[in-house]
Amino acid sequence: MKHAYNKVGDSHRAALIAICGADNVLAGSNVPEHYSHDYTEDLRFPPEVLVKPGTTSEVAAIMKLCNDSRIPVTPRGAGTGLSGGALPVYGGVLLSTERLNKIINIDVRNLQATVEPGVINQVFKDAVSEKGLFYPPDPASRGSCFLGGNLAECAGGPKAVKYGVTRDYVLNLEVVLPSGDVIMTGANVLKNSTGYNLTQLMIGSEGTLGIITKIVFRLLPMPTHDLLLLVPFPSAEQACEAVSAVFRAGITPSAMEFMERDALDYAMQYAETSIQVDPSVKAHLIIEVDGNDPETLFRDCEKITEVVNGFGCMEVLFAESAQQKAELWKLRRAVGEAVKAHSIYKEEDTVVPRAALPELLRGVKETGRKYGFRSVCYGHAGDGNLHVNILRDEISEDDWNNRIPEGIREIFSLCVSLGGTLSGEHGIGYVQKRYMDIPFNTAALDLQKGIKSTFDPNHILNPGKMFPE
Ligand SMILES: Cc1cc2nc3c(=O)[nH]c(=O)nc-3n(C[C@H](O)[C@H](O)[C@H](O)COP(=O)(O)OP(=O)(O)OC[C@H]3O[C@@H](n4cnc5c(N)ncnc54)[C@H](O)[C@@H]3O)c2cc1C
Repeated sequence: MKHAYNKVGDSHRAALIAICGADNVLAGSNVPEHYSHDYTEDLRFPPEVLVKPGTTSEVAAIMKLCNDSRIPVTPRGAGTGLSGGALPVYGGVLLSTERLNKIINIDVRNLQATVEPGVINQVFKDAVSEKGLFYPPDPASRGSCFLGGNLAECAGGPKAVKYGVTRDYVLNLEVVLPSGDVIMTGANVLKNSTGYNLTQLMIGSEGTLGIITKIVFRLLPMPTHDLLLLVPFPSAEQACEAVSAVFRAGITPSAMEFMERDALDYAMQYAETSIQVDPSVKAHLIIEVDGNDPETLFRDCEKITEVVNGFGCMEVLFAESAQQKAELWKLRRAVGEAVKAHSIYKEEDTVVPRAALPELLRGVKETGRKYGFRSVCYGHAGDGNLHVNILRDEISEDDWNNRIPEGIREIFSLCVSLGGTLSGEHGIGYVQKRYMDIPFNTAALDLQKGIKSTFDPNHILNPGKMFPE
């Protein structure tokens, strides 16, 4: 259903300035260009007004004003999203959380921390690690993405395979509802059987239900050791076959990443690394194990080597120094931006049960041949989470907008038929909403839309996202 919205008028702008101060309200051509896009394809949607509140009560006042005036509000973190969640597709107010950037408290005794949503993931990881604590979620964008954006998308990253995703570390939230009311969703406890789980409902809700203004995380003690293996394969499918076998052998790596040859080539060019890859290598697995006992980790690596050898891998390489480990991770983290530097792409965040990875990879390549596109595949293989970057190359505007999505629909249908779904960690946002009928029937979709309407009866919060209109 389409909803009618109002434009931001002079009186609204004056009210926003009264709430946040003139320095924190920018309109029209004064809004810096980067706020009109995130990292999704080449999409551009400028907001009418950008506001940067500095407190929860300012967020609440903005929401009340916009709800009363039927003005759309789009929450924004760092704008690194890959599904268009932070794009103000109906104009209106773009609410940036960049000034809500305090680490309020690190409670070492309880292994907990309370933060505002505009804290950068890596800044938080560093702050807790100084106290011997560990916050595992580590999206490749961790140097810039915000924790609020991580919650809204339920971000993952390489460590998810052993440690779980963002939602596994959140105990409690402060949320501003579209009405302007402020709620706490839970309690700062490890067990909680009290009412519906609003904390988990907020995580992955992509800024459509409320604005997260405080987060209480649980933390872990920092593991003391890790080992990193680089495993080259003469075929990408063999690399994918090896993935589930490692887990069946009783090892749970702390990271298990896959890069097919094109991903390696783009990343090597982009990251200017000294790493050399023989032309016969068609894919790499990067496998990390971590823990507190080096002997156990060496034994795990021996076992992993035994398993991958059974899948025809080439010589397994150990990263011997912290510098080599850092370089390998730099290469892996560079893939997305490296591909983007080469061509605009549509990013599909496919996810299947991990043993189905080889079938998914085969299906993606077959679909590419059928619809005439090239894809670069890489990602969190241990989670069955394959990022499929579909390159724009020389594809015409018409095919890019109409024919390629038919191919994407086939890929997602394959995922669902294999027991998987549309997105493992990037969310649905603006670009994947047209495929939501594949994993969900009408009853399931209506239930989700009903939840949205209960939180946001006027549909002012992040409209145009998640559900086909
Ligand atoms: C190079 C690169 C690598 C990446 N690697 C990974 C990866 O390994 N794993 C992974 O999971 N993702 C990855 N991403 C995707 C992206 O970084 C994540 O989705 C991240 O969580 C987005 O955070 P952000 O602060 O940039 O959010 P934004 O893009 O600004 O917003 C994302 C969504 O969150 C909503 N939102 C933001 N803040 C709030 C809030 N306080 N309350 C409510 N809603 C809010 C927005 O409305 C939007 O819907 C990568 C992106 C890039 C560009």
